Amino acid sequence: MTDSLISSAYSQALEVIASVEPRIAEATRQELADQRGSLKLIASENYASPAVLMTMGTWFSDKYAEGTVGHRFYAGCQNVDTVEALAAEHARELFGAQYAYVQPHSGIDANLVAFWSILANRVESPYLQKMQAKNVNELTEADWETLRHELGNQRLLGMSLDAGGHLTHGFRPNISGKMFHQQQYGTDPETQLLDYDAVAAKAREFKPLVMVAGYSAYPRRVNFAKMREIADEVGATLMVDMAHFAGLVAGKVFTGDEDPVPHAHIVTTTTHKSLRGPRGGMVLAQEEFAADVDRGCPMVLGGPLSHVMAAKAVAFAEARQPSFQAYAQKVADNAKSLAEGFLTRGATLVTGGTDNHIVLLDVSSFGLTGRQAESALLDAGVVTNRNSVPADPNGAWYTSGVRLGTPALTTRGFGHDEFDTVAELIVDVLINTTPGTTKAGDPSKASYVVGDGVADRVTKQSAEMLDKHPLYPGLVLS
Ligand SMILES: *Cc1c(COP(=O)(O)O)cnc(C)c1O
Repeated sequence: MTDSLISSAYSQALEVIASVEPRIAEATRQELADQRGSLKLIASENYASPAVLMTMGTWFSDKYAEGTVGHRFYAGCQNVDTVEALAAEHARELFGAQYAYVQPHSGIDANLVAFWSILANRVESPYLQKMQAKNVNELTEADWETLRHELGNQRLLGMSLDAGGHLTHGFRPNISGKMFHQQQYGTDPETQLLDYDAVAAKAREFKPLVMVAGYSAYPRRVNFAKMREIADEVGATLMVDMAHFAGLVAGKVFTGDEDPVPHAHIVTTTTHKSLRGPRGGMVLAQEEFAADVDRGCPMVLGGPLSHVMAAKAVAFAEARQPSFQAYAQKVADNAKSLAEGFLTRGATLVTGGTDNHIVLLDVSSFGLTGRQAESALLDAGVVTNRNSVPADPNGAWYTSGVRLGTPALTTRGFGHDEFDTVAELIVDVLINTTPGTTKAGDPSKASYVVGDGVADRVTKQSAEMLDKHPLYPGLVLS
């Protein structure tokens, strides 16, 4: 029943759109066709359910609702209150969190909200206290000047970008690398694994206010109990950014010391990666931070996206089903198959394997840069993204790695054997690709030559698998 409902709902929606701007309807149809026809291995992407997607396309989009549940700066927010309260309740239940703030529009926004709540709670400053106590008028221009310096010069310790950390964890081009006095911890040069003793030594020396754990390109689990111990020893606040692996936490693949929620003071996440919800962000906090997290709007956010908060509630309800736990376990199992598939074919993996949803392939053994590998794979319909490897000799633009993730294809129903085949196809492309030369005849880091017929062969083989596991199987557009 739902298949035909979904098919007619989308077909009719596209007709409505086409009556205004047919090129947008056409691009939307084409996007579905393209997504159906490519091997999506981008580790940060997924396919949300039709229920989640449809929830985003309603009149909740039209409502302004600055403020918090029951305390809005606009009239007529009673239905937004229902939606936001439900999304927060599902989030608290799903993650066992004391407090959930579902307004952030993205992962970056969620991190800004968390940073502010930590500054507001932890910086010791008489000016800050006056500001918080609403005695703002007592602050002179000179007080504000001091306060700006105090707030903007706090210490943050995060994982370095080339070890797998995220831009928002103190990387210079991001605001976090400018407003904070930042230092980074990396991974062990031999094993490429997190070295907790080295993190602790750095924390003791640097004494950060904020310690950030979490990653975008580290193919291993993190022991958050240990990270909290380190933070406590040096008086730091532990913030865990689980944007990438929230689905594995929700699906109870990461439990105990690997579950960040009971260990971190504050947890931030996106909702659209392994968690398989709408594009958005969220903050989970221990009670003491809740009041300042709630000031996310107007501190760094404008009005909440009520239609997306509604879709978050739907996605969290889905993630509370036993079927989501089975999905999350398959995501991790499939990553193991993919890694095995590479290792048995002689490829090199950062850290030598995986125990989450990410596989980081070091393509230097194929004589390629990440940029060349990414482009050659795309020619064969394999969608990945290039990524630095630890101490990358090619820098952050060309890189030496390709990052792969299993959440999206697992949603399509790919299993052990298919992921082994995916490894086979990727190796087939890469061993048959050679670097090109620049116009001046020098070796290029960007151009490449794929052997004759390779892209066609791989495209055909992946099409067979994609046909067997269709995306949105019941959805037929008229
Ligand atoms: C993806 C990601 C973000 C940013 O999320 P956006 O929604 O793109 O802003 C932040 N932190 C980590 C660790 C991420 O992986």
